[in-house]
Amino acid sequence: MPNSTPYSRFQTVLDDVLSKLSLSDEQKKWFAQPQFIHKKEVSIKKDDGSDVSFPAFRVQFNNARGPFKGGIRFHPEADEEEVKALAALMSIKTAVVNIPFGGGKGGVQCNPKELSKGELQKVSRAYVRAMLDSIGPDIDCPAPDVNTTPAIMAWMRDEYEMATKSYSPAVITGKPLSYGGSLGREAATAKGGFFILQELINREAMDPSELKVAIQGFGNAGANMANFLHSAGYTVVAVSDSQGGIYSPEGIDPVRIQKYKQKTGQVAGEYCEGSVCDIERMKMDGVSHVTNEQLLELPCDILIPAALDNVITEVNARKIQAQFIFELANGPTTPEADAILEERGIKVIPDVLANAGGVTVSYFEWTQGKSGGMWTAERVDSELKRIILDGYKAVRREARRESMTYRQAAFSVGIKRMLEAMEVRGWL
Ligand code: GLU
Repeated sequence: MPNSTPYSRFQTVLDDVLSKLSLSDEQKKWFAQPQFIHKKEVSIKKDDGSDVSFPAFRVQFNNARGPFKGGIRFHPEADEEEVKALAALMSIKTAVVNIPFGGGKGGVQCNPKELSKGELQKVSRAYVRAMLDSIGPDIDCPAPDVNTTPAIMAWMRDEYEMATKSYSPAVITGKPLSYGGSLGREAATAKGGFFILQELINREAMDPSELKVAIQGFGNAGANMANFLHSAGYTVVAVSDSQGGIYSPEGIDPVRIQKYKQKTGQVAGEYCEGSVCDIERMKMDGVSHVTNEQLLELPCDILIPAALDNVITEVNARKIQAQFIFELANGPTTPEADAILEERGIKVIPDVLANAGGVTVSYFEWTQGKSGGMWTAERVDSELKRIILDGYKAVRREARRESMTYRQAAFSVGIKRMLEAMEVRGWL
């Protein structure tokens, strides 16, 4: 559908599942629109003395189950429609893993790669000042998302604490370890995904050493997932970043790529400029360049979109060769593509389950911030495993019982849990 938006794509999936659940109009109303949409401009003075402002959003979709929760992205395409869709997905996601949060999302429509570190800090602080009345440890707790880092979370917490004259480590998650962060948060999205994938592969009686994986995106989620899979014996045949990707049927060592990115990347603001597709300088043999589009259609068993949304569409869904699609990105598959993949027998593990490890460890970080306690890495790992696999089992059960795809089943589990909370709170 050429005219679809992220939110209309969300609604297509939602409507499909709502129709299967036979809800009342009163119940459906809660899923049609977010509870609150905050739209502001953040203005900063650039290093050259000029003034610039960027549209900024915080969408609070639903807080029936607890404070709104979800990341903030800095991206040129972060507009109201996108942030709305991501906030809605967060509400379903927190419910699927059954943590006591609702769903929200934020965005600043800017290209952070064109900002200096100082400018980035100003944008981060200005965002918090613009949204001050709407966020708080018991109201709405932001976190990292596309292009936002622990450093940015630290500036945001600092700005919030100064503005409210409070000590509020739980206002935001994904912070650096030295300033209220949690062990295990950085790799949590990938770790949660890895636990699910291992469980899935075990159940299918498959052997990781015989499985080839292609990963689109080499940010926090993609790069950590590549490492976990490589260490567990999977063959990572392709990786990419926004510049493009590399492919080797024999396998790629993600640790080497990461080191290369870190070593050669001149840091522009917070972002590394070294690219995974810079293979000439990496001196790797048997490796060829692929575009981000070509990567999706490579021969592999597991395809992991771990970058942006709307990449698996009706245009390429028939060309995908993987048997499993594991969505570490939010919203990578359109509803039209979903239908084609289902018909082709390709199993999709949806974003609201596959990447829920991040927000799950955010919950642990929030808990530690509230209580003043500190968890060990072992405790984070074992609790994450328990919670994410419980979510996976709930979705699997629902899919089997209701003859649904995993995406429909995840939505169904999430919606039912949200409704239960609304019911007991007397909202319905
Ligand atoms: N941005 C992440 C997500 O989409 C994490 C959100 C959080 O930790 O609150 O799930």
